[in-house]
Amino acid sequence: MYQDFRIIDFHVHFPARRRPVGRSDWQQAVEKVGQRRAGLLRAQSRAYNLEWRRAWGFPAPEAESPSDEEQADRWAAEVDRYGLDKVVFVTGGDNDHLAYLVGRHPDKFIGFAHHDPFEEDAAAELERAVAELGMRGYKVLAPALDRDLDDEVAFPVWEVAAKYEIPVLIHFGIMGAGGGLAYHPNISPLKLHNVAKAFPDVNFVVPHFGCTYIFDTLQLCWACRNVHVDTSGSNQWIRWMPQEWTVQRLYRKYLETIGADRILFGTDSSWFPRGFAVRYLQDQIRDLVYLGAGHETMQKILADNAARLLKLET
Ligand SMILES: [Zn+2]
Repeated sequence: MYQDFRIIDFHVHFPARRRPVGRSDWQQAVEKVGQRRAGLLRAQSRAYNLEWRRAWGFPAPEAESPSDEEQADRWAAEVDRYGLDKVVFVTGGDNDHLAYLVGRHPDKFIGFAHHDPFEEDAAAELERAVAELGMRGYKVLAPALDRDLDDEVAFPVWEVAAKYEIPVLIHFGIMGAGGGLAYHPNISPLKLHNVAKAFPDVNFVVPHFGCTYIFDTLQLCWACRNVHVDTSGSNQWIRWMPQEWTVQRLYRKYLETIGADRILFGTDSSWFPRGFAVRYLQDQIRDLVYLGAGHETMQKILADNAARLLKLET
């Protein structure tokens, strides 16, 4: 327990040394614009990252990190330290690797499958990840895909999600934070509309309150009751909106429209020495208290909704 709340962090990235299969963003940038220009792009991102860490008082990620096994044990210690119920690793190397790491602390960790829904045999891989590896959800980065998210080629993948009743977390909006990717055919959460309509039996989750796409996310949630949001990260994107937004206002807007049953707490934590980004939890509890949210509403957001989607006992 943290204070008197059960907490499930629905959005954490395991800081794996092994990268997910496929080319990294920077490899792709080098292929597109060459080494020198990719270096300039990388410097732009670094400048934004430094500014963000300064604003939040976050330390720099370790230059040398220990083995993934040790990182898993450090994460298990974070779960104990803050009295968390569970953390959900939405990525962490490839599916086999993350399943292996989750297996070190199965009472504390939950793993999601993460692979391109348009790769060959993507549906079979999701089925294997769930049925054999014990993954309990599926993570997709929409602006990293080469095809439109609602392309029917990927429908067999959503069919597997329906069969196993697993939640699907799909990132929309700027990818890679400041200096990242802000323009892509899959940038808007409304790209999920046709998929969410075709699969009303699948629970989809749009992270970071929609990551700038507030209007699109609200429209999507209004059209499709099977769409949820998570609250993860610093939500620094509110700085880059033409209107004045705060996380507290986001909470109020989403509570007023989609309701407490479809909002899931997350932090987007990953690296050490930061570990669990407790500041987001503290800030968001304060925001909810200031909004006058009662214990039941807060408990839904902080753990119960996640437990329901993940089919954990409450
Ligand atoms: Zn994330």
